[in-house]
Amino acid sequence: MLNIVLFGPPGAGKGTQSEKIIAKYNLTHISTGDLFRKHLSEGTDLGKLAQKYMDEGKLVPDEVVIGMVDEKINSTTDTSGFILDGFPRTVPQAQALDKLMEAKGQPISGMIALEVPEDILKSRIKERGKTSGRTDDQDENKINTRIKVYLDETLPVASYYEKQGKLSKINGVGAINEIFDQISSVIDKY
Ligand code: AMP
Repeated sequence: MLNIVLFGPPGAGKGTQSEKIIAKYNLTHISTGDLFRKHLSEGTDLGKLAQKYMDEGKLVPDEVVIGMVDEKINSTTDTSGFILDGFPRTVPQAQALDKLMEAKGQPISGMIALEVPEDILKSRIKERGKTSGRTDDQDENKINTRIKVYLDETLPVASYYEKQGKLSKINGVGAINEIFDQISSVIDKY
C-alpha cells in the first residue's frame, strides 16, 4: 500500500504530477480542492459552505475538510493506495489523517514536497487562470492571500512529516518529466 502526500504551495505542480503518479502507480487521487469544486458545481450544502472560503483564498475549516476526506478514504475499496493532493494543509489535518490511516493499518508512506520560488508560482497560477476558469487563479489579491496562507498555516505540515523522517524535497522547477523522474525515484524507495 502506497499512501503519498504530495505537498507544495499553490501552483507548484501538484495536480500535474498527481496525474502522472496515478497513471504509473495505480493510486486513488484525493484532491480536496477538486472535491470542493465538485461540491460547488453540484450546489451541495458542503459546496455552499466551502465557497466563501475558496472565494477569498482562505482555508475551509479543518473539521469540514477532515470529514470529507474521511468519507472518501473509507468509501474507497480495492485500491493500491492514495495520493493526497492539497491535503493536509494544517497540522490538525495531518494529525487527523495519521489517526485515520493508522486505524486502517495503512500509514502514510511519505510526503513529497515540491519547491518552487514565489515569483514562478505567481506567474504559473495566472497562466493557469487563463484556462482553468478558477476565479481564485485570476485575481492578484486572492493569489497573494493563498500564498500567505500557505506560508503561515500549511508550511508547518512539512516539519510535522520531517519529524517522522517522512519528508522528501524535490525541486519543482524544470521539465515536467524530469520532475516526475525524481518523484518516481523517491516513491520507488518506499
Ligand atoms: P486547491 O485546488 O488545492 O488550490 O484548493 C482550492 C481552495 O479549496 C483552497 O484555496 C481552499 O479554500 C480550499 N481547500 C482545498 N483543500 C483544502 C484543505 N486541505 N484545507 C482547507 N481548505 C482547502
